[in-house]
Amino acid sequence: MKTERTFLGVPVVKPRVGFFDLSSCEGCQLQILNNEATLLSFLSLVEIVNFREGMKEKSDEYDIAFVEGSVTRADEEERLKRIRENAGTLVALGSCACFGGVNQLKNRFHDLEWVKKEVYGDFPIETREARPISAFVPVDLEIYGCPIKKEEVEKIVTKLVLGHEISHPNFPVCMECKANENVCLYDLGEPCLGPVTRAGCDSWCTSNRMGCWGCRGPAPAANLEQLEEIIKQKNIPQERLLDRLECFGGFGEAARKMRHRLEKNS
Ligand code: SF4
Ligand code: SF4
Ligand code: SF4
Repeated sequence: MKTERTFLGVPVVKPRVGFFDLSSCEGCQLQILNNEATLLSFLSLVEIVNFREGMKEKSDEYDIAFVEGSVTRADEEERLKRIRENAGTLVALGSCACFGGVNQLKNRFHDLEWVKKEVYGDFPIETREARPISAFVPVDLEIYGCPIKKEEVEKIVTKLVLGHEISHPNFPVCMECKANENVCLYDLGEPCLGPVTRAGCDSWCTSNRMGCWGCRGPAPAANLEQLEEIIKQKNIPQERLLDRLECFGGFGEAARKMRHRLEKNS
């Protein structure tokens, strides 16, 4: 790490940082570049040595690697392992990297060959089940969201640079939604995963009158049984709840079990 700058006489470490993308829409990286108001301050905190979306220079010497996207090909697995070897700290950036993200929706189909044929027709490409990066390498930190919230990333990176402990909110989106004085969407007849989803987005969707789809994964102690009760009381079909639980992969096994139960009872 570089220690060119000082603050009150104390050397300030400026870590070398790389951003990498696996299978993804690259929206999480774009979020970082988009933040023009604070981009320069952010850049003064770190030395970016690899960021394909933002620069052409490349280096394999970095302290922190941010990896966006899920693993859907053999070459991505190899590349991820090399990144892990090079990085002191590996950060999963966004829902694709943390849970498989929207890519993992294809895992619901039992016949992947059929999926490939339907999607790519006569132009087949190599693709396999989408998996989070933690399925292949140890991950030091996860940053949730689809996309990530840039303000949150900047806070986390500042803490990383200063060596402070990083923690995520341990309460659900509902808490932020209520603090933002929103009318609950259930009272308007719409489903929302806010009661079971980890907060940290400042109720991004519900403050814009859209139900939460759970992109940040489950809050600690998420009570899915209670959520099922709520949608029953509100006469919302369970399939609508399940669509949301399956969307980003964060509710993994619980969503699979619910799907199985639903199919068995239909
Ligand atoms: S988490 Fe969402 S925004 Fe980020 S790369 Fe995946 S699909 Fe794109
Ligand atoms: S709209 Fe969603 S997040 Fe907001 S209070 Fe209702 S259930 Fe919770
Ligand atoms: S409200 Fe839900 S879906 Fe929307 S950003 Fe927050 S966690 Fe993600």
